[in-house]
Amino acid sequence: MTKTYIAECHCGQVRIACKGEPYPVFMCSCTLCQRRTGSPVHIGAWWPMEDVTITGATKAFRRTTGEQGREVQFNFCPVCGTSIWWGGSTRGEGPLVGHYGIAGGGFADPDFPPPTHSFYERTKHDWISAPDDTPCFAGWTDDPAVMAEIVEKLQNR
Ligand SMILES: [Zn+2]
Ligand SMILES: [Zn+2]
Repeated sequence: MTKTYIAECHCGQVRIACKGEPYPVFMCSCTLCQRRTGSPVHIGAWWPMEDVTITGATKAFRRTTGEQGREVQFNFCPVCGTSIWWGGSTRGEGPLVGHYGIAGGGFADPDFPPPTHSFYERTKHDWISAPDDTPCFAGWTDDPAVMAEIVEKLQNR
């Protein structure tokens, strides 16, 4: 049976049901994610849009990511402020177009799948580390080999 993961914001006003296993699961230690989440590390789990059902109202905050120059929209609960879901590039490029990213902490699930990639390790707090064998990057990566692997796994999910 296909598992459904349920994420909620802090107050429960926003509820997100996600069918199947997430892929990819990004761990990000960039300073913008640290400020956005109020935590030293952000976990972003991705599903195809058709497998995600979002209920409850959210407000949007958009920013352009410095290194990639892409505009990303972050959606947060207007009641409690939790940054809970977001979308990929509004320029319609990259492997995660057509997917939603959901905040890993929102699932409050100790058995949630571990990160598949760790980005911005150059600003990662020293005491945090990705699981062994997790590909780690100093910043973001546009390495075609990494992107090709993500695309292939997305197509075969
Ligand atoms: Zn809320
Ligand atoms: Zn980040």
